[in-house]
Amino acid sequence: MSLKQGEFVGALDCGTTSSRFIIFDQYANIVAQHQQEFPQYYDHPGWHDHDADELTKVCDDCIEGGVKELAAQGYAKESIKVIGITNQRETTVAWSRSTGKPLCKAIVWDDSRTKHTVAIFEHKLRDVGIETPSGEIKKGEEGIDALRELTGLPLSTYFSAIKLRWMIDNYPNVKEAHEADDLLLGTVESWLVYTLTGGVKNGLHVTDVTNASRTLLMNLHTLEWAPQLLKFFDLRPSILPKIVSSSEIYGSLASGSLKGVKIAGLVGDQQGALVGNKCLKEGEAKCTYGTGAFLLFTTGADVVKSKNGLIGTVAYQASPNSKPVYALEGSISVAGSAIKWLRDSMGLIQSAGEVNDLAAKEKDSGGVYFVTAFSGLLAPYWDPGAGGLLIGLSSYTNPSHIARATLEANAFQTRAIIESMRLDSGVDLKHLKVDGGMTNGDLVMKILADLGGFDVVRPEMRESTALGSALLAGSAINLYGWDISKPETLEYVNTKGSTTFEPKMDEALREKMWRGWQKAITRSIGWEE
Ligand code: ADP
Repeated sequence: MSLKQGEFVGALDCGTTSSRFIIFDQYANIVAQHQQEFPQYYDHPGWHDHDADELTKVCDDCIEGGVKELAAQGYAKESIKVIGITNQRETTVAWSRSTGKPLCKAIVWDDSRTKHTVAIFEHKLRDVGIETPSGEIKKGEEGIDALRELTGLPLSTYFSAIKLRWMIDNYPNVKEAHEADDLLLGTVESWLVYTLTGGVKNGLHVTDVTNASRTLLMNLHTLEWAPQLLKFFDLRPSILPKIVSSSEIYGSLASGSLKGVKIAGLVGDQQGALVGNKCLKEGEAKCTYGTGAFLLFTTGADVVKSKNGLIGTVAYQASPNSKPVYALEGSISVAGSAIKWLRDSMGLIQSAGEVNDLAAKEKDSGGVYFVTAFSGLLAPYWDPGAGGLLIGLSSYTNPSHIARATLEANAFQTRAIIESMRLDSGVDLKHLKVDGGMTNGDLVMKILADLGGFDVVRPEMRESTALGSALLAGSAINLYGWDISKPETLEYVNTKGSTTFEPKMDEALREKMWRGWQKAITRSIGWEE
C-alpha cells in the first residue's frame, strides 16, 4: 500500500521523566505520537541527574517511533515538513568540544545539591558585588537587586550557571576541560540540537533565548551573554552556545528516518506551553502542572521587574529580527511529584489518578496543611532551607485528609503566585489556562478553582508544550500561514473545546483556609539554617 502525503509538523518534547515526539496537523490534531520514559538518577539526597546520552537516545527512539506510527496511519515520513524541540529547562549538560561526549551526568533542574554553591555566590554578591552594564559595582541588597535587574532571576540552585559551577568545582574532568578550553555548556535543547545535527562532526552549538534566559548568564534586556556574569561566576565565554530566536531555521537532522528535515523551533517547555496555549498577548496566563508547576503570565514587550518573588523571563522571540515578548513566571518545584510521593514512598495510592478518589472521600482536609517543600521552596518564597511540613494533624487525620491536603497545597502555591502577579502587574486574573499530567484529575481542578477563586480552563488537547514548539517551527517556514507574531493566524488552531471549572467555595471559607496556609508557610520557612 502506498503511503499518503500529508503536511505535518513534528514536535520533540524532552520532559523531566519522559520524551515524546508528536506529529500535529494544521489544526493541532495529533496524527501520530510516540512517548518513552528515561532513567532518573538520585545518587545522593538532593541529587537528581540524567544521562545526556540517554536523552539523545530516547529522543531518537521517539522520532523513529512517531514515524512508524505515522506510517501506520497511512502517511509517508516526508509528510513531516519541519520539527520543533521543547525541553525541560535549566537542566545542565557539560560536554567535550573535542570528543562531543558528555563529561558528567546532567544536573536536573530540581536538584538541590548546589545549596552551598548558592551560599558562596550570595556572599560574593553581598561582599564583592557585581558590575552593572553601566560599569558601577553593586553590593549587598543592591547587588542582589542588580542581578535580578540584569537577568530577571535570583541566585538559586535552580539555574544553570550554579549547576555548571558546581560541576567545575567537583568533577576534576570538567575542571580540566574548562581550563583547557575543551568544555561546552548547554541546556537540554542545546545538547539535543548538537547531537541531532551531527555531534562532534558538525553539530550546532546553539541555545534559544527562552532557555538562555534561565542560565543566570544572559542579559534579559539585550538577549546577549553578559560578560560581567561570566566574570562573576568565573566562566570562560567560549563554553557558551550562540543565542538564537525561538523560531528560525537552525539546521537539519543529520541521521535517522527524518534525516534532512529542518529544525526550526526551539523553546523551553514552559514557554512552549505558553505559546501552545496561545497566551501570546499581554495579560494572558497559563499554568502547567507536571512534576512541578509553572505559571507564566505574558507581559509583552517590556521586562516587568518583580518586587514580589516572581522571575522575569523571555516568553518567546518570533524571529531573529523580532523584539522578544517577556513573561513573569512563578515556579513550584513540587506539584505532581507530591502525588508520586504519596504513591511510591507512602503507599497511600496505587496510581497517580487514584489521589482524586482518595481525596474525594473527605469533604475537607480536616485542618491539615501540607507544605510540600521537599527541596526547599521556589516562587514566591525562594527558600532553599524551607522544610517539608504536615501540620494540623490529630488522631482524627486519615489518608484521605492527607491526599486532600496534597491537592490543596498545589492550589495554595498557585494562589501565592497569582497574588504576586497581581501586585507586580496590577492584573487580577479571572481565568487560568491549565495543562500537564496533574490536570487529568477533576478533583485537582475543582480544588484549584475553589481555593484560587478563579475559573480554571482545561483544553481538551493538552499537549500544549509540544504544540508551542510546533507552532514556532511551522511559523519559521510559514507553513499553513502560521505566524507567531500575528496571533490571528493561529485562531483556528486547537479549538476542539475545553472544560471550565468555576470556583464554588464560599468566599469566607476560602480566605480562612488561605490564612491557614500562610501560617503553615511561616513555620516551614527557614527550617534548615
Ligand atoms: P512531566 O512533563 O513533568 O514529566 P507530566 O505532565 O507528564 O509531567 O505529569 C506527570 C505528573 O502528573 C505526575 O507527577 C503525576 O503524579 C501527575 N498525575 C498524572 N495523572 C494524574 C491524575 N489523574 N490526577 C492527579 N495527578 C496526576
